[in-house]
This record gives sequence, structure tokens and C-alpha cells, in this order.
Amino acid sequence: MTNPLASTQIVIGEALKRLGYPEEMFELLKEPLRMLTVRIPVRMDDGKIRVFTGYRAQHNDAVGPTKGGVRFHPDVTEDEVKALSIWMSLKCGIVDLPYGGGKGGVVCDPRKMSFRELERLSRGYVRAVSQIVGPTKDIPAPDVMTNSQIMAWMFDEYSRIREFDAPGFITGKPLVLGGSHGRETATAKGVTIMIREALRRRGIDVRGARVIVQGFGNAGSYLSKFMHEAGARVVGISDAYGALYDPEGLDIEYLLDKRDSFGTVTNLFESTRITNAELLVKPCDILVPAAIENQITAGNARDVQASIIVEAANGPTTLEATNIVTERGILLVPDVLASAGGVIVSYFEWVQNNQGFYWTEDEVHARLEAMMVKGFESVYAIHAARGVNMRLAAYMAGVRKMAEAARYRGWV
Ligand code: NAD
Repeated sequence: MTNPLASTQIVIGEALKRLGYPEEMFELLKEPLRMLTVRIPVRMDDGKIRVFTGYRAQHNDAVGPTKGGVRFHPDVTEDEVKALSIWMSLKCGIVDLPYGGGKGGVVCDPRKMSFRELERLSRGYVRAVSQIVGPTKDIPAPDVMTNSQIMAWMFDEYSRIREFDAPGFITGKPLVLGGSHGRETATAKGVTIMIREALRRRGIDVRGARVIVQGFGNAGSYLSKFMHEAGARVVGISDAYGALYDPEGLDIEYLLDKRDSFGTVTNLFESTRITNAELLVKPCDILVPAAIENQITAGNARDVQASIIVEAANGPTTLEATNIVTERGILLVPDVLASAGGVIVSYFEWVQNNQGFYWTEDEVHARLEAMMVKGFESVYAIHAARGVNMRLAAYMAGVRKMAEAARYRGWV
């Protein structure tokens, strides 16, 4: 299995070299500035105590406070959290947000925990990391298997510890607690905008374009809905248990209605479902990995039949696979650009909280659209002008602001 931290460090090193920065800059940016490991005791419903391991990584705060989600998943590792915090720095750099990257994670399986156990774990996590987070230091948000309810518990716990109401401490909150319109759908909206820009570069009409979406959770299900509404034909979707494929197009409205809160739906189609591996190499125009890491690898990259890959998930394509698909002429819109919609609207939420002045959904969408398009154009321009693949171009665009801020501060 490819180590996401090691892969990221290779591309950061290459990006910094091409931008002319000295080796010291790579030494500064190759790891988070801060990494806190915590142990969180939680009383379970059976009365026993279970101790969970959690992490919070802060990659770089030269530009401003760090920002990034908290993931609840059994496979969370220290290296994964570190890599995710670096990717957050790059996303913020590409779309020009006044943040560095952060990320958190807890090794746990929310699917096997009760509502009250999840509440105690969420509050325990905030107590454990409260010294290093805050609205001007490091601002958490939702990620895989965390949602607005978990953000609400975390927000409440932080407000109690600090004895003040600090809505800007965390984003992805419910609307009634200072959340922003458009936050829940932001990542998928952003990916939809990236697909539109990529289709434009390839001269393909969105109407009738065939889309495969791997993963039917927050990002994948809304994306399927938006693509369906735009007139595209969603021919494949999947979840952790399998995949559905129909060249004539799937009944997306039915699937959206039937999916559960963890993004599971294929269990209703035992007899016709195929595997995730089979789905990734089925014919389509646009392939969107929106589930987990390391899905397009040297093992299957030559068999992918899409002409555009847009990475909604973090880290779904390995470096070898990136080179293979690029050589095959596939246009790849990398994760650090494609999935930036979530952090952009999180930024909008934080701005609204700080000002106490709230925007309409239309205002949120218009600003999101403008920032995503500008991000795409800056990455595509580097790709075209410097002859580098889209991932390296995105890293070059993303690392520049943070490296310049570190240089001005006199760190390197
Ligand atoms: P989610 O937990 O809501 O959904 C994940 C989906 O992937 C589910 O349908 C699940 O069944 C499926 N899945 C899990 N394991 C799988 C496997 N082994 N094979 C195939 N499918 C599998 O998560 P999400 O919030 O939609 O996030 C998905 C990806 O998008 C992650 O990589 C996440 O980091 C990234 N992302 C999400 C956001 C956001 O705002 N939600 C923002 C940026 C990036």
C-alpha cells in the first residue's frame, strides 16, 4: 500500500525545486509543524471504559490559522493525518484562503457505536486537543464519518471549556448554530464546477456525458445528483460493499432516496452488483473517485476508459498511476484542487461567524464558483506553460503562498 505521506513529500519536493526554493524550504514543509497524539477515555453504553487514539496535525501556520476536518475511521493512522494536513495546506494555497492546513482523526468505527457513545467521544476529542485549537489557531471541520451533529457537540464542548460562545471554532455546524448555507453540498458543488471546466477543455458537452462515481457518501451522492441534474448520464456508482453499472444510466433519484447515512445503497442489488475494481475500468467519459485512497494504481491505470478523472476523494490515485493516466492523455483534476469546495465554504462559514452577518445560499454559490474557477485556471495555466502534469501543477500553485509567507517571516 502506498504511503500517502511519502508520496506527498515526493511531489512537494519536486514542486519546490521547480519553483526555485532551497532544500531548507522542503525541510520545513515536508512534515507538519505540530502533531499531537491523544488518548481519549470514553464510557461505553455497557458501562466499560474504552480508550481511543486520536490525532491533530497542524502542517503550517505561516499564512494564518490552520484548518481541516476530523475523520472518524478504524484505519486512521498518524501518517495519514499528517498527509491530509499537508493536502489541506495545498488546497488553501491553490484557492487562496488565509489558512494553513490542519487535520484530525480518531481511530474508531462510528458504524459500531451508539449515538451517545459518539457524543462522548466527540466531546472527549475536543477536551484532549483544546489547548492547540481555536478560532484564531486551528479550526476543525467534518471529514469522513463525521457530520454536523458531531460538529455541534464539539462546538458545545469547546464553548464550555473556554467559557464563551465561539462559533468560529469549528465549521460544518448545523445552520441554527452558525453553520453556512451550502456547506453540506460544497465539496460536490466544487467537484461539479471542476468537471464542467475539464469538459470544456476537452470539448465534451455535459449533456449525455457518461459519469462513474466511486463512493456514494456526502461527496459522491450529491455529486451524482448534481451531474444528473446537469443532464449527464450517471452510469456507475459504488459504496464500500460493491458497485452498480448501467450504460443506459442509473436511476439516481431512487438511489439517493434509498441510501443510508453512511452512503450505503448497493446492498439492495445483491444479484446485479459488481465490484469496485470492475467499476473503475468500465467505459465512461468522467471517472470520479469519491471514496478512499489508493484506488487508481499502477495495476489498473492502463485499463481506465475515462477521458477525464476528477478526484473528489483525497489521494485516490497513486503517483505511478498519475504518470500512466497522464501519458495516456487522460485529463486528471487532482484532489487538492477538485475537492477544495468543502474548505472554501468552511472559510465562508468562519467569515460569517466572525462578522455575525450571514449570507444567502446564492451568495455562497456565486463566491464558491468564482474561487473554484480561479483555482482551476491557475493550475491549468501552470500545467500548460510548464509542461508538468496536473498534480505537480496543483502542488506548485498550492505550495507557493505558504513558502513565500514562510520566507517573508524569516523562517527560511
Ligand atoms: P462518506 O463517509 O460520507 O462516504 C464515503 C463513501 O465511500 C461511502 O459511500 C462508502 O460506502 C464508500 N466507501 C468506503 N470504503 C470504500 C471502499 N473500500 N471502496 C469503495 N467505496 C468505499 O465520506 P465523504 O465525506 O463523502 O468523503 C469521501 C472522500 O471525499 C474522502 O476521501 C474525503 O476525504 C473526501 N472529501 C470529502 C469532503 C467533504 O466535505 N465531505 C471534502 C473534501 C474531501
